[in-house]
Amino acid sequence: DLHSLAGQVAVVTGASAGIGRACAVELARAGADVAVNYHGSREGAEETVAMIRDLGRRAIAVQGDVGAEADVARLFDEAQERLAPVDIAVSNAGLQRDAALADMSLEDWETVIRTNLTGGFLMAREAVRRFRTKGRRPEVSRALGKLIFDSSVHQRIPWAFHVNYAASKGGLKLLMESVAQEVAAEGIRVNAVAPGAIATDINRSEREKEGGREAMLALIPHGRVGDPEDVGRVVAFLASDASDYIVGQTLFVDGGMALYPGFRGNG
Ligand code: NAD
Repeated sequence: DLHSLAGQVAVVTGASAGIGRACAVELARAGADVAVNYHGSREGAEETVAMIRDLGRRAIAVQGDVGAEADVARLFDEAQERLAPVDIAVSNAGLQRDAALADMSLEDWETVIRTNLTGGFLMAREAVRRFRTKGRRPEVSRALGKLIFDSSVHQRIPWAFHVNYAASKGGLKLLMESVAQEVAAEGIRVNAVAPGAIATDINRSEREKEGGREAMLALIPHGRVGDPEDVGRVVAFLASDASDYIVGQTLFVDGGMALYPGFRGNG
């Protein structure tokens, strides 16, 4: 079964809730054991771990800040010591610090770039180093390793009042493509998902404010806000040999948001 991840170990950053949790669970459903990274919520991470164990897979929770070099190294160390060397790395952690440009503090800018973009760089660098040390395991996968970034439709669609976030995701796009180009020949497959509007904590206040849900739905041709599992299933696919010939691509998981639905008019 080309979709199976049996016998492989995955690390997922920011997996105490939301899309990261769904990625961890869907990877486990496909057969992987998972190291669940979290930043703040140990409780959330333990819940993700319990969900994975219910699926009959092994899981551990590992605290760490993706913007901190030593924490990222420790995440891979713990995964390797307590599970096995990592075959699949999912760089999912991300945050928003929204403000109009003129009101945006340098701290708002740097926090978002450090987590979303530098975090992606540190995950990519560590994953590639570890994949090389691990070596090929043809009995479980054609690839030496798989690296998947959680980007956003805002790697393509400009976003007023969120310039730090859009810049971080735009940066992530060319980081992903450049790393993919650099390491593809040695069998490391690098890709990304670009979610649209997925119901998680990151946009809860947006969805729950007066008229917020309607404004969001107007941007989604498919007619519903996405679930974290919509993204998790695609990440599991990108981690599997079923996607073996997909290299350096971003799969938009957005219900058509990137189709500029405003141009449909009233047809
Ligand atoms: P979320 O807030 O539930 O999850 C983000 C997770 O990242 C949290 O668990 C948080 O603790 C973790 N995190 C933040 N800073 C961290 C750090 N320094 N180190 C480790 N972990 C850290 O929101 P989500 O929607 O699940 O977001 C996950 C990813 O999906 C983010 O990269 C986000 O940009 C992306 N995304 C989300 C949507 C959406 O509509 N929800 C759309 C596009 C992209």
